[in-house]
Amino acid sequence: MPNESSSPLLSAVSRLAEARTLTDEEFTALLETDACDEALFEAADRVRRSVYGTDVYVRGIIEFTNCCKNDCYYCGIRRSNKNASRYRLDEEEILGCCFTGWELGYRTFVLQGGEDPFFADDKICRIVSRIKHHFPECAVTLSVGEKSRASYQAYFDAGADRYLLRHETASPWLYAQLHPASMSLDNRIRCLYDLKDIGYAVGAGMMVGPPHQTTAHLVEDLRFLEKLGPHMIGIGPFLTHRDTPFAAEPNGSLSMTLRLLAVLRHAEPLPRGRAEEVRAL
Ligand code: SF4
Repeated sequence: MPNESSSPLLSAVSRLAEARTLTDEEFTALLETDACDEALFEAADRVRRSVYGTDVYVRGIIEFTNCCKNDCYYCGIRRSNKNASRYRLDEEEILGCCFTGWELGYRTFVLQGGEDPFFADDKICRIVSRIKHHFPECAVTLSVGEKSRASYQAYFDAGADRYLLRHETASPWLYAQLHPASMSLDNRIRCLYDLKDIGYAVGAGMMVGPPHQTTAHLVEDLRFLEKLGPHMIGIGPFLTHRDTPFAAEPNGSLSMTLRLLAVLRHAEPLPRGRAEEVRAL
């Protein structure tokens, strides 16, 4: 329940809808208390209804490989996990998923997988162009990790429309706690800007509640998203996986995830630059 001490924060919630941002101190206070949840969630819901109504937009996500050359400490399909049972779909199976999805009414197909060298650029391009050939009115989204600019350009030229690449954390220090030294935040950020520059609709986002994360790191994420201006934002709580170095760590907080979703709904009420497409998504 709001009390007297939460009233400055309640006025911050009111301002958020107008200004779409707050000071670092206000963001921190808002994220660290449940006193304003009701007002924050109601305000976010009003923004949502004014833009999207109550429609739910569905995406056909095809998890086509769980093989990955990377070793992110939080991930159940990291290459060091010898207990994971690995699979790859072949091209015909992927196309088959799209035909089934089309029949079910899906109009966006998301090809998502680990960073799997088996799916070299020519394979990805061929799959994308085959999907576009059969379903020219559908959007194709890729979520296959960090690549060179030339690779991203090739996928785009083959017909890919959107790309999902969560930055996971905008803090170099926290990034280094969550990833091996072979991976770098600088490269992840380079990828995101390349994707935007090429013309993709780009999705970024962060994990909520991984080991070592503080509220200050989350505020850093909010500032990074303001600066990057992605077209889509995906966030989710850290979930413990038994076969990772973080097996003994607690899951990320649901309430913190919900507060961040509400803040981000205010900050980015529309897909960037594509307001006119909202109804068509
Ligand atoms: S790159 Fe993605 S799939 Fe691969 S280990 Fe990291 S989080 Fe997992």
